[in-house]
Amino acid sequence: MHPIIRHRIGGRETTGHSTRTAPVWNPATGERQAAVLLAEPADVDAAVQAARSALPDWADTSVMRRARLMFAFRTLVEKHLDELARIVSAEHGKVFEDAKGELVRGLEVIDFACGIPHLLKGEYSDQVSTGVDLFSFRQPLGVCAGITPFNFPAMVPMWMHPIAIATGNTFVLKPSERDPSAAGFVAELYAEAGLPDGVFNVVHGDKVAVDALLDHPDVAAVSFVGSTPIARYVHERATANGKRVQALGGAKNHAVVLPDADLENAAEHLVSAAYGSAGQRCMAISVAVAVGDVAEPLVKLIGEKARAIKVGPGLTPGSEMGPVVSPEALERVKGYLDAGTAAGAELVVDGRDSTVDGDGFFVGPTLFDGVTPEMSVYRDEIFGPVLAVVRVDSLTEAIDLINASEWANGTAIFTGSGRSARQFQRSVQVGMIGVNVPIPVPMAFYSFGGWKQSLFGAHHMHGPEGVAFYTRAKAVTSRWPESPEAASLHFPTAV
Ligand code: NAD
Repeated sequence: MHPIIRHRIGGRETTGHSTRTAPVWNPATGERQAAVLLAEPADVDAAVQAARSALPDWADTSVMRRARLMFAFRTLVEKHLDELARIVSAEHGKVFEDAKGELVRGLEVIDFACGIPHLLKGEYSDQVSTGVDLFSFRQPLGVCAGITPFNFPAMVPMWMHPIAIATGNTFVLKPSERDPSAAGFVAELYAEAGLPDGVFNVVHGDKVAVDALLDHPDVAAVSFVGSTPIARYVHERATANGKRVQALGGAKNHAVVLPDADLENAAEHLVSAAYGSAGQRCMAISVAVAVGDVAEPLVKLIGEKARAIKVGPGLTPGSEMGPVVSPEALERVKGYLDAGTAAGAELVVDGRDSTVDGDGFFVGPTLFDGVTPEMSVYRDEIFGPVLAVVRVDSLTEAIDLINASEWANGTAIFTGSGRSARQFQRSVQVGMIGVNVPIPVPMAFYSFGGWKQSLFGAHHMHGPEGVAFYTRAKAVTSRWPESPEAASLHFPTAV
C-alpha cells in the first residue's frame, strides 16, 4: 500500500468525501511512491467553509499580529528548508540544490509579507475642502483560492499565500496533484507558527476541485499559475462568476545573443537557463536567437557544455539535472525530438543519448540548430530540456521574432552594448527582461508576470501588485463641523 496524501482543512488532516486518487511518482526511479486524494466538490466546500469561518477574526486581527505571525512562519520555513527541499526533489525530480533555490525565492516573498504594516499604509489628505479630510485604506477580499502547477510546488504557492494571509484574507490552496506533499508540510509550519485553524487550507485534486473553487460563491478571488489553456479557462470561468482573477500561463522564452556578447559567458548562462530543472521552468530559456556570425561558435560551445551536464537522480550528490516529472512528460519530450528532426532541424545534442540506470523519467539535454518559426519545436512549450537555436541577421529581426510570438513571459539579451540592450528592453513586448541575465525573475518586492498569452488578468504576482490584488481600497471623506453647515442641491465641490 502506498501512503495516502490527504487534505488539510480547518487545521485537520482529512479524507472528507474523496474516494478517487492519483499516483505520485518518484521521477528518479519511475516508481509510485504515494497516492494523493482527489477532492470532490463537497471537500472543496468544506475547505471554503473553514476559510470563511476563520475570516472575520483573522481579518480583524491587528496588522502587527499578522506581521509577527509571518515572522514566525518565516523562521520555521528557513529552519526546515532542507527538509522541504528534499520533499520537493523527491516528488518533482529536480536536484536538491535547485529545490533549495526555489525555497529561498519563496522565502523572499515571506520576507516581503513581513513588511505588511508598511505595505498597507493608506493615504491621507488634510483639508481637501474647508473642514474636510480625505483618506484611503485597503481591506482584505475574503476567501482567496490558489491553484498551482507542478514545477515549483513550494515557491509558486508562496507567491500567493503569504501576501493573501498577511493582508487579512483566508486561503484555500489546490496544489498540483503531481507533487502535492510540500503544501501539507507548509500547512504544518503555519500551524506551528500559530496561524489560527482555517486561515490556510489545502485541498488536493484535479479539474473537479478546480471547477468547484471557480464556481464557489464564497471564493472572492482566484490566483492561478499553470499552462496557458488552463489559465485562459480559469480566468474566463472565475471572472464570469464575479471573482477577481490573476491567471499566469505558459511560456516560450527567447534569449538573443549579439556578436558583441561575451560568448563563453552567454553559452554558460544559456545552458543553465535551458537545462536547469530539466527545462521545467516557466522562465526557462527554450529558444536561443543567434544574431549574425555568433551562431557557429555559440552552438559549438552550448553543445560542449550540454554534453557535460551530469544527469541523475535529484537527491544524488553531484547530479546537475534530474528527470522530468512524469511518464507522460517523458513521452511528450521524446515526441518533440522526433518532430524537430522530421521538420528538418539539426539535432546537435540528442537527449536520448544520456542514459541513467533504472526506470526513471530521464531525458538528457537536447540541442536543435537551424530551427525556424513554423516548426513545432519552436512554436510549442515543450517544458523539457530542449533548446532550439534560431539564426537571424540583426537585432531588429530578433526583436520582430520575439514580438511575433504569442508567449511573452520572459526574455533575455546577451550583449556588450548598452545601446543594443536599451533598444531591446524598450521594444520587446515581454513582461520580464534580462540584460546578460538569463532568468530575470524579479525579486519579491517587485511583481512577477508576463504579457500576452502568459498572463490573463490585470495583476502580476507578489510585490506591490500582489498586495493590490489581495485587497480593495476604501476612500473616506470626513467632516466634523462645529455647528450645522448649509448645503445646496448642487453636486458638492471643494470650497
Ligand atoms: P497545468 O496547467 O497542467 O496545471 C496547473 C494547475 O491546474 C494544477 O493545479 C492542475 O491540477 C490544474 N488543472 C490541470 N488541468 C486542468 C483542467 N483541465 N481544468 C482545471 N484545472 C486543471 O500546469 P502544470 O503542467 O502543472 O505546470 C506547467 C505549466 O505551468 C507550464 O505551462 C508552465 O509554463 C506554467 N507555469 C507558468 C508560470 C508563470 O509564472 N507564468 C510559472 C510556473 C509554471
